Amino acid sequence: MYTLGIDIGSASSKAVILEDGKNVCASLVIQSGTGTSGPDRLLAELFQQTAISQKEIARTVVTGYGRYSLESADGQISEISCQAKGIHFLLPTARTILDIGGQDVKAISIGKKGNVLNFFMNDKCAAGTGRFIDTMAKVMEIDVTEMGHYDSLSTEPVTVSSTCTVFAESEVISLLSQRKAKKDIIRGVHRSVVSRALGLLYRTNMEEDFVLTGGVAQNNGVLRALEEELKKPVFITENPQITAAIGAALFAWNQISSGKQ
Ligand code: ADP
Repeated sequence: MYTLGIDIGSASSKAVILEDGKNVCASLVIQSGTGTSGPDRLLAELFQQTAISQKEIARTVVTGYGRYSLESADGQISEISCQAKGIHFLLPTARTILDIGGQDVKAISIGKKGNVLNFFMNDKCAAGTGRFIDTMAKVMEIDVTEMGHYDSLSTEPVTVSSTCTVFAESEVISLLSQRKAKKDIIRGVHRSVVSRALGLLYRTNMEEDFVLTGGVAQNNGVLRALEEELKKPVFITENPQITAAIGAALFAWNQISSGKQ
């Protein structure tokens, strides 16, 4: 039996098809989020790419910032619960999750069964989020997917002291005009993101294993800076952008198997 988990975020739309609550048999990420054509394209493209038809989906649960925009779903569950559920399924030893997405940063403590013990979120400001990194990447004319690579080449990291996205953008422009190397500014940008995240992370139980999720987990520079600060290993899953969608598909499966539909 198949269940579908959908995560409509601010920056991307993700879908996962799960078989019998055990195997991820299809997944798709579209790099456009709520309020764009992303959510509509998501399902059309997902079912085009797999042999499974939409009629075979027994239940659909949606999560993410834009979860109430998808009317065809059977239910909605918060990203915090779905993230915890998905990570516990993929990495049962995880106890602390740092999720950095397009406009949210969340630090979540989870128990041995994947239950949420506590969580802390950023305020509405873009500081420390994926959007902060995207803005700096744009100023430097570098694709965001290349930021981790540039970071790895840094030899004399520069401090980016403004946390506000607008001020940091001006600071980066000024650093570029001072002929500071992009790789060194990028290391500074990643350190700034991590220092914002630590403010949330230190409020959790800080129990190992640590795991970094969300689109920004694909940026090795952020992962490196986080491990340097924590002085502990930080794990990432194979596709860190779809973990909450996996959690949503698992909730859909649990609802079917417990008869609570
Ligand atoms: P949301 O769930 O809020 O829609 P995501 O978890 O998809 O957000 O994260 C989006 C952010 O992830 C982007 O702002 C970007 O900074 C980052 N990102 C996405 N893909 C990559 C990639 N391939 N490499 C590095 N960073 C990425």
